[in-house]
Amino acid sequence: MLIDSADDLCDIARKVPLQQVEHKILTDAGIELLVRRDDLVDAELSGNKFYKLFFNLRAAREQGFNTLSSFGGAYSNHLHALAAAGNRYGFNTLGVVRGERPSHLSPTLRDAVAWGMQLVFVSRMDYQRKSEPELIAEFQSRYGDFYLIPEGGANVAGARGMQALGRILEHQLKGDYTAVCMASGTGTSLAGLAAGIDREKPAIGFSVLKGEGGLGNSISRTYRQLCDSHGADNWRLISGFHAGGYGKKHPEYLSQFWQEFERASGIPLDPIYTLKLFWGIYSLAQQGYWPRGSRIVALHSGGLQGRRGFMCP
Ligand SMILES: *Cc1c(COP(=O)(O)O)cnc(C)c1O
Repeated sequence: MLIDSADDLCDIARKVPLQQVEHKILTDAGIELLVRRDDLVDAELSGNKFYKLFFNLRAAREQGFNTLSSFGGAYSNHLHALAAAGNRYGFNTLGVVRGERPSHLSPTLRDAVAWGMQLVFVSRMDYQRKSEPELIAEFQSRYGDFYLIPEGGANVAGARGMQALGRILEHQLKGDYTAVCMASGTGTSLAGLAAGIDREKPAIGFSVLKGEGGLGNSISRTYRQLCDSHGADNWRLISGFHAGGYGKKHPEYLSQFWQEFERASGIPLDPIYTLKLFWGIYSLAQQGYWPRGSRIVALHSGGLQGRRGFMCP
């Protein structure tokens, strides 16, 4: 079974293609852009959520848990991936969802239920308390014992899967690149990625959140748990491309960029994360941010299930 050995994660990660994208903006800026297509890992369980779950599933199995639980919103890529993983690797899953139960479940939650996830809806107020031991104990007495994964898969085990990806990417590129970029929410994936690649090269996160208090500290903490960094950390966070914040309605220019990018590249993007990543990379290219001759790598972190219910190009 997949989760029984780390080699299997690496076997999968090694097969992920790097695809070159051409565009006038890139040519004019004198840069090359390669996309690592981690959205193609699997039809149900792909992108960074696959890497973030891997060592969590393994820990749960080793510790003898039959049930996995985590939190998220009604469109959460993380809960979607957790439900798929539970179904595939033989765990029960309990998804704690923010907000009242709606009369119609989102496509994300419908999939999760079809994969056997039990959903518990909690008020926004209780949801804010979700990490408090009392609330977790209450859930455990009601639904049985479970292995708890934080919202978004944001723990060191999650980052460790992304560190493995980073090592493989470094090997694929043989040092011939300038920077690796990805979309950041909690920043867990960024911390892992930075710890996996060459310490001299930057991993750049494009934050999709507006005003992320404390994000830098938590990225730094996770990063330092994965590698002894002497000197400066090799991750950076860029905050100017959240376009209003997480899950907010897209301004017109962003919808236009989405449409044009997909038409030109043939690469589908998700509305919350990867769209903002590519928009950020292209905008910085227009501003002359990337030195001419740069070879930029963008990590496609998946999330394509989130296209449903969105007006996609
Ligand atoms: C969850 C997610 C991210 C953000 O990952 P973090 O580790 O929380 O920063 C990026 N891209 C996609 C597609 C995601 O689903």
